[in-house]
Amino acid sequence: MKQLLALSDDDLTAFLKSIGEKPYRAGQIYEWVFKKNARDFAAMANLPSPLKERLARHFRIASLNVCEPEVSGDGTVRVNLSAPDGVVFPAVILDAARPTGARKIPSSSACLSSQAGCPVGCAFCASGGELKRNLTRGEIVESFLAARDFVKSRGDDAAKISGVLFMGQGEPLLNYENVTGAISDISAEGKIALAQRHITLSTVGIVTGIRRLAADGFKVRLAVSLHAADDDLRKKLIPRASSKVSTVLEAALAYAKSSKTRLTFECVMIKGVTDTPRRLEELALAILRFISGHAPVVVNLIPFNENPRAGAEASYFRASDDKTLYLARGYLVSRGIFTIIRRNKGRDISSACGQLGV
Ligand code: SAH
Ligand code: SF4
Repeated sequence: MKQLLALSDDDLTAFLKSIGEKPYRAGQIYEWVFKKNARDFAAMANLPSPLKERLARHFRIASLNVCEPEVSGDGTVRVNLSAPDGVVFPAVILDAARPTGARKIPSSSACLSSQAGCPVGCAFCASGGELKRNLTRGEIVESFLAARDFVKSRGDDAAKISGVLFMGQGEPLLNYENVTGAISDISAEGKIALAQRHITLSTVGIVTGIRRLAADGFKVRLAVSLHAADDDLRKKLIPRASSKVSTVLEAALAYAKSSKTRLTFECVMIKGVTDTPRRLEELALAILRFISGHAPVVVNLIPFNENPRAGAEASYFRASDDKTLYLARGYLVSRGIFTIIRRNKGRDISSACGQLGV
């Protein structure tokens, strides 16, 4: 049986045509799945019974098993999703639950995976591990729906997911078709209808993928995991980074211009490795040279999450201390670069950046 959500709109319309149905049925089916949360064709009251039966014989709507959510003290929730072939991957919901002591439930974001495992093998990351396989378009969309179901289950009528981050397991631009298919579903009016400017795709800098995003007219926000502006250091941190920093920055700028979006550069702050005055100066110079003045830009300094499950090299890495983080931000700001320190969420349930190994 096929996954309904792994199909593009054209695939579903072609299937409907092949069985003598009108294309508008596709819109009705999507309305049931995305707006009315149907997980069973039998519930689709405005479809004729023979069509419902036929669809049920060909497709299943929900293909993932949603494991018991883990809730962190800071309001972060991790949900593991398991596929019929035994592959398990996480989705993290930021600000999903009321943090200890807080009165109001804030609005939430979903941090989605793009692959089970990751082939890039960054030295500091435990989210990756070996690549098991690409997630399908349907699995990515389903992980969003699981996050939305969780948020709605809090019993708050206004509850919704107001942002999506492709910052979970995997490198999204190495699974281009399925990730962009999922982005189309998440942003389509007749489906989930979350505007692309509320979706951020984080990439290690796959230049062909960035160029393709621009050529295909996407308007999601791009976050580039730069970490270091020096090619040799960057290559040590990201062994499979195949493009030079200057090439990555040029592609990112071209995307920001064509999509009219803001660029984010992420830098994991590792003590004595990426947080030194020399490395920060290199970073500032590269951003000033290639980006500033041409497109809006923000640097996110990400406190390094130490993780015993990361590779051998990572066990030598230490997190920068707070004072160094503030000095780093102060320096970049003094060079005219808007810089923030990313809050570290979900550490107690292994859900923070780089901790998403299962
Ligand atoms: N593969 C993509 C997206 C997922 S990783 C990418 O690398 O951009 C999301 C972010 O978490 C990246 O910026 C990544 O560098 C960061 N990250 C990975 N390991 C980390 C760690 N141990 N501590 C803090 N951030 C980490
Ligand atoms: Fe993969 Fe991103 Fe982790 Fe690197 S940081 S191993 S690209 S998930």
